[in-house]
Amino acid sequence: MPSLSDPIISIKGLGKKTSDRLNQLGIHSLEHLVFHLPRRYQDKTSITPLSRANVNDEILIELTIDRIEVVPSRQRQLLCYLSDNQNHRILLRFFHFTQYQKQALIRGETIQCFGEIKIGRQGLEMHHPEYRVISQNQKPLLESTLSPIYPLCSGISQNKMKQWVNYSLEVLQISQLDDYFEKITQQSMPSLKSSLMLLHHPEKNEDLSKIESFKHISQQRLIIEELATHQLNLLKTKKARKSKKTNAFKIQDSLSNKLLGSLDFDLTNSQSRCIKEINEDLSSSEPMLRLLQGDVGSGKTIVAVFALIQAVENNYQAVIMAPTEILARQHLQNFTDYLKPLNIQIAYLSGSQNPQERRGHLDFIESGEAKVVVGTHALFQESVNFENLSLVIIDEQHKFGVHQRLSLSKKANKTPHQLVMTATPIPRSLTMSAYADLDTSVIDELPLGRQAVETVALSNSRRDELIEKIKKISDEGRQIYWVCTLIEESEVLRAESAEKTFNYLTDNLKDLTVVMIHGKRTKSEKEMIMRDFEKGKINLLVATTVIEVGVNVPNASLMIVENSERLGLAQLHQLRGRVGRGSEKSICVLMYQSPLSANAKERLDILRQSNDGFMIAQKDLELRGPGEILGTQQTGIASMKIANIVRDAYLLKEAGYYSSKMLEASEDSQNAMIRRWIDDEKTHYFDA
Ligand code: ADP
Ligand code: MG
Repeated sequence: MPSLSDPIISIKGLGKKTSDRLNQLGIHSLEHLVFHLPRRYQDKTSITPLSRANVNDEILIELTIDRIEVVPSRQRQLLCYLSDNQNHRILLRFFHFTQYQKQALIRGETIQCFGEIKIGRQGLEMHHPEYRVISQNQKPLLESTLSPIYPLCSGISQNKMKQWVNYSLEVLQISQLDDYFEKITQQSMPSLKSSLMLLHHPEKNEDLSKIESFKHISQQRLIIEELATHQLNLLKTKKARKSKKTNAFKIQDSLSNKLLGSLDFDLTNSQSRCIKEINEDLSSSEPMLRLLQGDVGSGKTIVAVFALIQAVENNYQAVIMAPTEILARQHLQNFTDYLKPLNIQIAYLSGSQNPQERRGHLDFIESGEAKVVVGTHALFQESVNFENLSLVIIDEQHKFGVHQRLSLSKKANKTPHQLVMTATPIPRSLTMSAYADLDTSVIDELPLGRQAVETVALSNSRRDELIEKIKKISDEGRQIYWVCTLIEESEVLRAESAEKTFNYLTDNLKDLTVVMIHGKRTKSEKEMIMRDFEKGKINLLVATTVIEVGVNVPNASLMIVENSERLGLAQLHQLRGRVGRGSEKSICVLMYQSPLSANAKERLDILRQSNDGFMIAQKDLELRGPGEILGTQQTGIASMKIANIVRDAYLLKEAGYYSSKMLEASEDSQNAMIRRWIDDEKTHYFDA
C-alpha cells in the first residue's frame, strides 16, 4: 500500500530527472507534496454571463463560435469571435497556434473558455484562454471546487503538479496520521487531514478572501501547529540543558558592592533587575542560558561585569568574547578600570598578539590565575585551556555561529553558565519563536540624562554644508564619525571611493586631525587609531562600518553616514548609537543619493522619527524579514512551510500554549511532529 513517506519517484510516470527538479522545491516524498499548498486559486465553479464580465476578471464563459480568422501580419494571429444568445461578443486571440487547433474551432460549436478579460479595440478579448469545445464532447472546464494553482519550478507544468498532488491527496485520505496536535486542541480546530484537503480544493462557497489573507481556520490551524512545533523543538533543547548539572554560585556582595561604590553613576532600575535575574540563574545548578537584550547604549556591559564578578567571588573563571578586536580591546580597557582596583586578574587573547605575548596569556589562563578572560575569536582555539571556566559571556551574539559559541563552552568541565548579549533589541515575536529556549532579560530604559540623538536626512548634493558643521562641533571640543558605506563592486573601487571622501575631507578641514580607518589597515594600526580617537587626539574619524559594533566614545557627538539608504534599519540604529553616549546633544546625519525609493524613504523616516530600538527592530523585521535580524544563526524560523513570523505574529501566544502541552507528549509523538515540520538540516543555534 502506498504511504506518505514514499519517495516521489514511486509515482507512476515520474522519472529521475523530474524527481531531481522537485527536490529543488524541497519536495522529496508524497508528504511534501501534500504540504505543497496552492499559491492561489482559479474559480471555475460557475459560468459567468458575458453581460457580467468585468475587465481583469479571471472567469469561465460558455459561448458559441461565430467566426474564425487568421491575420497574416508579421506575427500571425488566430482570431476567434464568440457571442451569446443576447448578442454580447468577445474575441479570443492566439499568437501561436497549430493547424490542428484551428481546425477544431468550427463556426456554430459551443466552447468553454477560462481566462482573464481584457479590453481591445473592438471590445472584450481573452488571450490564449484555456478552452474546451464541449459540443465536440471535450471534457468541460466547469469544476465543483476551486482550482489550485501551485508554485512551480522550471520544467514542471501546472497540470503535472496538480496530478501528483492529487495522487498524494488520495494517499493522504487512506493514511493514518499521528496527529497529537489534534488531541491537545480537543477538536476545537479542523484536523490536519481536512485542513490540507480544504486548502488544496476549497469548496465554491469557501471564503477565498480569508484564504488569501491566511486567516482561514484551516490555515490558522496549520500555522499554529507549525509555530508550536518549532517552539517545542527549542523547549526540548532547553529541557535537556536544564537536566544537566553545573556549578551553582554562592551569590556574594562584597566585590559587587565595592564595584558599585566605584561607579560614577547609579545603575538604572532595569540594570539592577537584570543583574538580579542573572544572579538567580547563577545560583542554580542548572546551567544558565540567558539572553540580555537592551537598546544601544542601555548599558549592557556593566551588567555583564556584575555577572563576571560572581564567578570570581566563587573562585571560578569567566570569559567574555566580542566579535571584533576593537570591541574586545575596549572591553579589556573598561574591565581593567573596573576590576583592577578589586585585584582581579584579567587575561586577553586576540589574533594580533605575537606568539610570545600570546603564550604568556595562555599560561595565565591555564594556571587559573587569570579569573577574567577577554578576547575575540582567538578564544576558542584549541591551544586555549582554562583551569575552571564556569561562566561564558558572548557580546553581540548574532555575530557568532553556533560552532564558535559551542567550542568556547566546551572548554569548561561542566556545561558553563552562559549569558548572551544582543547588539540591538530583538522584536518580541522573534524572541517568542527563535529564542524560545532561552531565558530573557531586557534593559528597557536608558541611563538618566541621555538625550535622544537628533536625526536628519541630507542629500549627497548638500555634502558641502557638513564641512561648517564639522568645524563647529570640533571647535566645541567634540568629535565626529564619518562612515563610508562602500557600495562599489570591487575592492579596488571601494578603496578608491573611501580615499576620495578622505581627501575631500582633509582638503576642506585643514586645521583638523582627520584619520581614516578601514579593513585594510593592520589590526595594530586599527587599535592605535581607535585609542587615539578615544583619547581625543583625532577630531574626525573616517571609517568603514568597522565602527558599527559596540564602540563607546562618549565625547563623539556627530555621526555622518554616507549612502544610508543602502543600510538596514537595525544597522543604522547601531551606527547612530555610537553618538548620544555622553550628556551632550548629538546629531546623526543620514546622507542619501536621490532619488530615494519609496521603501528607502520610509526607512529613513522611521529613523528620523524614532530613537526607540525596540520599535525600529520591529519595523526592520516587517521590511526585511527575520533572516537579517537572526544573522548567522540557522533557525528554521526564516523558512517555515506555511507560517510567517511577521504575518502570523498574532498566533504566537496560542502556539506557545500548545507547545508547552506538546512537551508533555510521548517522545515518539514529539518526534513525529518535529519530523513533519522541521527539516533535518535546520539545527538550532543554541543546541548544546
Ligand atoms: P551597550 O548596551 O550599547 O553595550 P554600554 O554598555 O557600552 O552600552 O554602555 C554605554 C555607556 O553608558 C558606557 O559609557 C557606560 O559606562 C554608560 N552607562 C552604563 N550604565 C549607566 C548608567 N546606569 N548611568 C549612566 N551611564 C551608564
Ligand atoms: Mg555593547
